[in-house]
Amino acid sequence: MGIPVFPPRFDTDLLKPFYEGLEKGELRMSACSTCGEFHWYPPEILHCHPEAKIDWRTISPEGVIYSFTTVTRSLLPGDHRDEVPFTVILVESDDVPNARIPSIFMAREGQEAECGMRVRLSPVQAGEHILPAFEAID
Ligand SMILES: [Zn+2]
Repeated sequence: MGIPVFPPRFDTDLLKPFYEGLEKGELRMSACSTCGEFHWYPPEILHCHPEAKIDWRTISPEGVIYSFTTVTRSLLPGDHRDEVPFTVILVESDDVPNARIPSIFMAREGQEAECGMRVRLSPVQAGEHILPAFEAID
Protein backbone atom coordinates (compact mmCIF):
# COMPACT_ATOMS: atom_id res chain seq x y z
CA MET A 1 0.00 0.00 0.00
CA GLY A 2 1.15 3.50 -0.83
CA ILE A 3 0.37 7.02 0.30
CA PRO A 4 -0.93 9.68 -2.09
CA VAL A 5 1.41 12.67 -2.08
CA PHE A 6 -0.35 15.90 -2.92
CA PRO A 7 -0.74 19.25 -1.21
CA PRO A 8 -4.07 19.75 0.54
CA ARG A 9 -6.04 22.63 -0.93
CA PHE A 10 -5.50 25.85 0.94
CA ASP A 11 -7.42 28.32 -1.19
CA THR A 12 -8.60 29.73 2.12
CA ASP A 13 -7.63 29.22 5.76
CA LEU A 14 -10.86 27.33 6.33
CA LEU A 15 -9.19 23.96 6.97
CA LYS A 16 -5.98 25.25 8.55
CA PRO A 17 -7.04 24.34 12.14
CA PHE A 18 -7.87 20.82 10.98
CA TYR A 19 -4.37 20.29 9.60
CA GLU A 20 -2.78 21.99 12.63
CA GLY A 21 -4.63 19.44 14.76
CA LEU A 22 -3.23 16.58 12.72
CA GLU A 23 0.28 17.92 13.35
CA LYS A 24 -0.43 17.44 17.08
CA GLY A 25 -2.08 14.07 16.60
CA GLU A 26 -5.53 15.53 17.22
CA LEU A 27 -8.73 15.15 15.24
CA ARG A 28 -10.52 18.50 15.11
CA MET A 29 -13.94 19.33 13.78
CA SER A 30 -15.64 22.64 13.09
CA ALA A 31 -18.60 23.63 15.25
CA CYS A 32 -20.90 26.63 15.53
CA SER A 33 -19.73 29.08 18.23
CA THR A 34 -23.34 29.86 19.14
CA CYS A 35 -25.12 26.49 19.36
CA GLY A 36 -22.22 24.03 19.23
CA GLU A 37 -23.58 22.04 16.30
CA PHE A 38 -20.78 20.27 14.44
CA HIS A 39 -20.37 21.00 10.74
CA TRP A 40 -18.27 18.99 8.36
CA TYR A 41 -16.99 20.04 5.82
CA PRO A 42 -16.56 23.44 7.50
CA PRO A 43 -18.86 25.92 5.76
CA GLU A 44 -17.83 29.49 5.07
CA ILE A 45 -21.15 30.59 6.55
CA LEU A 46 -22.96 28.50 9.16
CA HIS A 47 -26.53 27.77 8.14
CA CYS A 48 -27.66 27.39 11.78
CA HIS A 49 -26.31 30.78 12.89
CA PRO A 50 -24.94 32.81 9.98
CA GLU A 51 -23.58 35.47 12.35
CA ALA A 52 -21.60 32.96 14.42
CA LYS A 53 -18.01 31.99 13.87
CA ILE A 54 -16.50 28.54 13.53
CA ASP A 55 -15.00 26.97 16.64
CA TRP A 56 -12.62 24.08 16.24
CA ARG A 57 -13.04 21.32 18.80
CA THR A 58 -10.85 18.32 19.41
CA ILE A 59 -12.97 15.19 19.06
CA SER A 60 -12.38 11.50 19.64
CA PRO A 61 -9.58 10.16 17.46
CA GLU A 62 -11.41 6.85 17.33
CA GLY A 63 -14.35 5.85 15.21
CA VAL A 64 -15.55 3.52 12.50
CA ILE A 65 -15.09 3.19 8.77
CA TYR A 66 -18.34 4.21 7.09
CA SER A 67 -17.16 3.45 3.55
CA PHE A 68 -13.97 2.96 1.58
CA THR A 69 -12.48 2.50 -1.85
CA THR A 70 -9.06 1.36 -2.96
CA VAL A 71 -7.41 3.52 -5.59
CA THR A 72 -5.29 1.49 -7.99
CA ARG A 73 -4.80 4.16 -10.66
CA SER A 74 -4.25 7.70 -9.48
CA LEU A 75 -6.17 10.46 -11.23
CA LEU A 76 -4.04 13.18 -9.61
CA PRO A 77 -2.13 15.37 -12.07
CA GLY A 78 1.51 14.32 -12.45
CA ASP A 79 3.19 10.95 -12.01
CA HIS A 80 1.77 9.15 -9.00
CA ARG A 81 2.31 5.54 -10.11
CA ASP A 82 4.48 4.74 -7.09
CA GLU A 83 1.79 5.90 -4.67
CA VAL A 84 -0.90 3.38 -5.60
CA PRO A 85 -2.61 1.37 -4.42
CA PHE A 86 -4.00 3.22 -1.40
CA THR A 87 -7.33 3.00 0.36
CA VAL A 88 -9.46 6.08 0.97
CA ILE A 89 -11.89 5.72 3.88
CA LEU A 90 -14.74 7.81 5.23
CA VAL A 91 -14.45 7.81 9.02
CA GLU A 92 -17.15 8.67 11.54
CA SER A 93 -15.64 9.78 14.85
CA ASP A 94 -17.27 8.32 17.96
CA ASP A 95 -18.05 11.90 19.05
CA VAL A 96 -19.69 13.04 15.81
CA PRO A 97 -21.59 10.28 14.02
CA ASN A 98 -22.82 11.28 10.56
CA ALA A 99 -19.82 13.52 9.88
CA ARG A 100 -17.60 11.53 7.55
CA ILE A 101 -13.97 12.56 7.24
CA PRO A 102 -12.11 11.43 4.12
CA SER A 103 -8.85 9.83 5.18
CA ILE A 104 -6.25 7.26 4.25
CA PHE A 105 -6.39 3.72 5.66
CA MET A 106 -3.04 2.64 7.09
CA ALA A 107 -3.29 -1.09 6.51
CA ARG A 108 -1.04 -3.63 8.11
CA GLU A 109 0.36 -6.35 5.87
CA GLY A 110 -2.50 -8.23 4.28
CA GLN A 111 -5.15 -6.17 6.07
CA GLU A 112 -8.11 -4.72 4.20
CA ALA A 113 -10.59 -2.05 5.20
CA GLU A 114 -14.12 -3.08 6.15
CA CYS A 115 -17.24 -1.03 6.77
CA GLY A 116 -17.78 -0.79 10.52
CA MET A 117 -14.10 -1.48 11.33
CA ARG A 118 -12.89 0.33 14.45
CA VAL A 119 -10.06 2.75 13.66
CA ARG A 120 -7.83 5.27 15.45
CA LEU A 121 -6.27 8.45 14.06
CA SER A 122 -2.73 7.97 12.82
CA PRO A 123 -1.81 11.02 10.70
CA VAL A 124 0.72 10.31 7.98
CA GLN A 125 3.40 12.51 6.46
CA ALA A 126 2.98 12.67 2.67
CA GLY A 127 5.79 14.69 1.16
CA GLU A 128 5.71 18.11 2.79
CA HIS A 129 2.17 17.67 4.08
CA ILE A 130 0.38 15.71 6.73
CA LEU A 131 -2.75 13.82 5.81
CA PRO A 132 -5.57 12.42 7.93
CA ALA A 133 -5.05 8.67 8.22
CA PHE A 134 -6.40 5.94 10.45
CA GLU A 135 -5.27 2.48 11.48
CA ALA A 136 -7.36 -0.42 12.72
CA ILE A 137 -7.82 -0.83 16.46
CA ASP A 138 -7.03 -4.36 17.55
ZN1 LIG B 1 -25.40 27.32 15.34
